[in-house]
Amino acid sequence: MTALLPDLAHLPTFDSVEDERLHRKQRLAASFRLFGKFGFDEGVAGHITVRDPEHTDRFWVNPFGMNFKHIRVSDLICVDHTGAVVEGDAMVNRAAFAIHSQVHAARPDVVAAAHSHSIYGKSWSALGRLLDPITQDACAFFEDHALFDDYTGVVLDLEEGKRIGHALGDHKAVILRNHGLLTVGHSVDEAVWWFITMERSCQAQLLAEAAGTPVLIEEEAATLTASQVGSHVSGYVSFQPLYAKITREQPDVFD
Ligand SMILES: [Zn+2]
Repeated sequence: MTALLPDLAHLPTFDSVEDERLHRKQRLAASFRLFGKFGFDEGVAGHITVRDPEHTDRFWVNPFGMNFKHIRVSDLICVDHTGAVVEGDAMVNRAAFAIHSQVHAARPDVVAAAHSHSIYGKSWSALGRLLDPITQDACAFFEDHALFDDYTGVVLDLEEGKRIGHALGDHKAVILRNHGLLTVGHSVDEAVWWFITMERSCQAQLLAEAAGTPVLIEEEAATLTASQVGSHVSGYVSFQPLYAKITREQPDVFD
């Protein structure tokens, strides 16, 4: 993957923490526009977070109740480890804090996390099963996602968020049974790409199983493919065309 796309595979570096913060916020705001475009919005559900590069126990997130398609960089809010909004004047979704604060705390390597009630992800989650390696794309999740095999209501308390973080383990994604998908990454780019492609892998497996019995990719080939399409760099690279398209189409996202 890296060899195929050498120019895109260079992850950005920054001269100052302010530059890095702005970069993360721009990627985050653009990701909400993409989630809106893909139809991942449902009422007030769904959140994407990115860790602040300076205050690493804080994260940036969407303001509660704002349509994903309207979110601009200046609308993002920053939340500290107690759930207090320390930048921005909107409220934070309580479930966003309960889940994402615990995922960020459990995984210091994770820069960003994405969750929404997307239709194929939540449909698949109702089956209480992991995805199978039935396509090249689905191999990104081969032996790299988990199932949170429980559902007890809207996640509002930190203990529940902690259990989700525990179920995620060191994987890139977790299927929350009867709820939806949650993905993480070393960048916003990566976390959001995993979400988009995982949603589509759920769709593909639902379609394939509705039509017949899918042939599974053999373990050795699935492991090799996972190393090709499932790496951090691959996730980052795969996001770049989407970012280019949405920011050219909707430049007000940078306001
Ligand atoms: Zn949710």
